[in-house]
Amino acid sequence: MPEVIALIGCKGPTQETDYLAVLAAAMPEERIVPFRLMDDGARDAARVAIVANPDPAEVAALPNLVWVQSLWAGVERLVNAFDRPLPIVRLVDREMARTMAEAVLAWTYYIQRDMPAYARQQRAGVWRPHPYRKPSDTTVGLLGLGALGIAAAERLLGAGFRVTGWSRSPKAVPGIEAMHGVAALPIMLGRCDILVCLIPLTPETRGLIDAERLAALKPGAALINFARGPIVATDDLIAALDSGHLAHAVLDVFEVEPLPAESPLWSHPGVTVLPHISGPTDMPSAAATVAANLREFRRTGEPPQGIDKARGY
Ligand code: NAP
Repeated sequence: MPEVIALIGCKGPTQETDYLAVLAAAMPEERIVPFRLMDDGARDAARVAIVANPDPAEVAALPNLVWVQSLWAGVERLVNAFDRPLPIVRLVDREMARTMAEAVLAWTYYIQRDMPAYARQQRAGVWRPHPYRKPSDTTVGLLGLGALGIAAAERLLGAGFRVTGWSRSPKAVPGIEAMHGVAALPIMLGRCDILVCLIPLTPETRGLIDAERLAALKPGAALINFARGPIVATDDLIAALDSGHLAHAVLDVFEVEPLPAESPLWSHPGVTVLPHISGPTDMPSAAATVAANLREFRRTGEPPQGIDKARGY
């Protein structure tokens, strides 16, 4: 039985057809087949699965898998999902980093140029200019200095913002004040006019941005969460907005998605709700990244560098 690559977890037949076409174009030398169309022989022979949001039972039904390639950057749902300690390779893709950095800059400008206030004023028929604040007088703090955080830092620096960042391990990034470790977090938060969340969801980061951390931000600061919803404690966020300590929150990610109709975030005047659009997977670019990983695997027999399951990312 010739080896095929399993494709698992597409959202419906249209997405499956689209993904197959783009993946096949990027690696014509491989045969990629949706899990549901693989017979027993093909399931036995498969050594690699490309996954979007996979049913773990389908991964379990491929007994000879060597590694799993995710089409997403965030892998919190995959870390403990499988019945074996399979290497999980997450998507690290230049086009995703570019798109995310663009979103960070766009929504940073939204805050820095007071667009939420002007939108409210227009609805109320109010003509009132607010004082202009230069990028060079505005500090943007990045929680997370990984693939996306670094790309965002470079874009913000290019636009003249002051940038500080926070990660688990020490980082040297030209032009930014980089801090690391839990003890440094309040110091970093105290510098921020705008806090941008770009860390993965792990047991350590769940609920990280709570009442105490929000209180550590400068009065009148804003929050942009482009990472995962559960990193920010929603009730504490609403309390910080209601008290006026936090001026605005731009939220692209939520505990439950789509955001339920009854969520108070929909109608809160201090919240901008986005439908998880800040860093979409660009399939042609993602497929080229996956193809490069597969070619390296075919050449060396070694799976690409996977996530660290103990750290959770
Ligand atoms: P990454 O390259 O793995 O970087 C993660 C960063 O977070 C690293 O700097 C890491 O520190 C830091 N970090 C992790 N745990 C930490 C902790 N406990 N304390 C301090 N720092 C910690 O990930 P990425 O590719 O930049 O992606 C980040 C996240 O963005 C993803 O996990 C995903 O959830 C989210 N995302 C969202 C969208 C969207 O559309 N909304 C799209 C793509 C991705 P070290 O450098 O020291 O390891």
